[in-house]
Amino acid sequence: MYPQGNACRLNKELNFKCLIFIVSNPFLTLTYEPALESLGDDFYDRVTAASFPQHRLRFRNDAVLPKLGLDAKNVKDEDFVEAFGLFEGVRPFLALRYHGHQIAGYGQVYNPELGDGRGFLYGQVRGVDGQLYDFGTKGSGQTPYSRRGDGRLTLKGGVREVLAAEALHSLGVKTSRCLSVVETGEDLWRGDEPSPTRSAVMVRFSRSHIRFGTFERLRYCQRPDLISQLLDHVITTYYPDIELDGDYQLRFFQALVGRVAKLVAQWMAAGFCHGVLNTDNMSITGESFDYGPFAFMPAYNPRFTAAYFDYEGFYCFGNQPAICRSNLEKLKTALSPILPVAEMDTALKIYETAYADHYIALMLRRLGIANTTALDPTLAEQLINQTLTCLATSQREYPSFFATLRQTFNPGWRDSPDLILENADLGEADWDQWRILYQQSLAKLSPAEFEAVESTLQYANPLTDLLRPRIETVWAAIAEEDNWQPFNELVQKLQTGN
Ligand code: AMP
Ligand code: MG
Repeated sequence: MYPQGNACRLNKELNFKCLIFIVSNPFLTLTYEPALESLGDDFYDRVTAASFPQHRLRFRNDAVLPKLGLDAKNVKDEDFVEAFGLFEGVRPFLALRYHGHQIAGYGQVYNPELGDGRGFLYGQVRGVDGQLYDFGTKGSGQTPYSRRGDGRLTLKGGVREVLAAEALHSLGVKTSRCLSVVETGEDLWRGDEPSPTRSAVMVRFSRSHIRFGTFERLRYCQRPDLISQLLDHVITTYYPDIELDGDYQLRFFQALVGRVAKLVAQWMAAGFCHGVLNTDNMSITGESFDYGPFAFMPAYNPRFTAAYFDYEGFYCFGNQPAICRSNLEKLKTALSPILPVAEMDTALKIYETAYADHYIALMLRRLGIANTTALDPTLAEQLINQTLTCLATSQREYPSFFATLRQTFNPGWRDSPDLILENADLGEADWDQWRILYQQSLAKLSPAEFEAVESTLQYANPLTDLLRPRIETVWAAIAEEDNWQPFNELVQKLQTGN
């Protein structure tokens, strides 16, 4: 498969030097599997990357390397640059074809002019866990789907996606990660960044780049045969628990409904607003990916909206569960040529309950309670509702509220509500009522469950937030002084939960 060809780019005669490259660059000697490529060229266009004037490694994600069976000690910066920055002269990569429903005012419209416009599928590899992963680029040049775009990614866009993914990962959200960011030395012009701004190529490590919109395109093209082929590929590759008999394609849809409900619950508990929940940004694996104008919500507010172009707040924080359900409906329509709509409708009915169950479990975890069944459902619901009401009324910062719980926990909370966050600056709200409900909940835990509260608070509540001011501070150091230290330190903190 093509990434290996990269080594020979530097030396077409395959001389000794080139052999050393082949042997020594661990990314080029990975076993790439042509999983998507072998489905046939109805699904992609072969493209080559742009040439860039500069290749400076700005980020390498050593935390991901063990998944590839690699040891960071044995991977040089030059290996990243050679594999994930210098694409010239390499065999074509795959720009994936897809359509999607995109935001338009307070709603979505179908856009048949999408597709990988500034990225491509670099290769697919099997992780040490046996699962197939994609390396996907962003900012690697124009493709047939670039429309009027330049096919580039801003360095700030790359930095923001790295941070989003690491923060979400540390909050337990199933997300793609970034493997590398290479600065590419071009001036870019963007309406949403002071311009000219710097360019980069990012490589994303994700489960899949097959989107809801990939299926929407196949329906639009009236190709039920390809819908079925791609669906079978998705099921065998990403849903190995589904037995390939009877109504297995329908069981896939049920499983996806469950996965999406869980993912949205993870975003909501994390306080994350994705920003652009177009159907082309929804992965068929139920993994979170593609972070553009995302934002973590500063204080609890269901109307909080991340994307500057989302004037009506269609993709606001509180709308995310409903939007994702409606995106599943769009996928249902895309699959309708091969699957019975009535049965997909039945499958969709589990969405609300699945979402609520996951959300309650995750919010209880943020409150230190790992075992959801330890509380009766009414008390659990009351506690969570009161937490949200107090956070909304007081406008206390969402991430730091939970960090403060983690930092100030003491076993006396089980008996005395007055001790709970007694010295914290919580702002005006009915915190006394919240304290009573929290104390009552802690009192319901068995000794072993109560023993676990401290560690649950720790792993559920990272100390470092990724609110916008923090990102802007890190970016300002890069933009003004080319100082990457604050960025590196922030990544480190996000990765360790400290
Ligand atoms: P996104 O908002 O990143 O999900 O992208 C939506 C669509 O616009 C996709 O088809 C992208 O490939 C395309 N796109 C976004 N930015 C650019 C760009 N700078 N050049 C070319 N295509 C782009
Ligand atoms: Mg996208």
